[in-house]
Amino acid sequence: MRQQLLSGKTVATCSHCGKKSPLISQSLGVCLDCIRRDFGKVSQIAAFMSSLNHDIPYALLAFHPDFLMGDLPTTSAYHAQEALEAARAQELGRVRIGNIHLLGDAC
Ligand SMILES: [Zn+2]
Repeated sequence: MRQQLLSGKTVATCSHCGKKSPLISQSLGVCLDCIRRDFGKVSQIAAFMSSLNHDIPYALLAFHPDFLMGDLPTTSAYHAQEALEAARAQELGRVRIGNIHLLGDAC
C-alpha cells in the first residue's frame, strides 16, 4: 500500500476505489467507505443461517480497534443499523446488535 505524509497525517490510497484518505486500514489496504459500503457478507451469512432455521440467533458486534487496525474508528451506529436491516431482510427472527456501547457517531 502506498502511503504519503501530508500535514502530519499519513495518507494512503485505497486499493479498492483509489481514494486517498487517512482512514485507510494499513492491514486491509481499503478505505473506511469501502468497508462500510458492503453489506453483502452480512446478507450472505444471514441467508445461510435463515436457510437452516429462521430462529438461529445472530448478534452483529461493533468493531473496536484493540489489537489490529488501530487506524480505523469503531463501527458507527448508522452502519450497525444498516447491517441489522440487511440481516433482517433475510427473514432471520433473532438478529440484534451487540456491544452497543462501542458504537461511534461517524457515518
Ligand atoms: Zn475505498
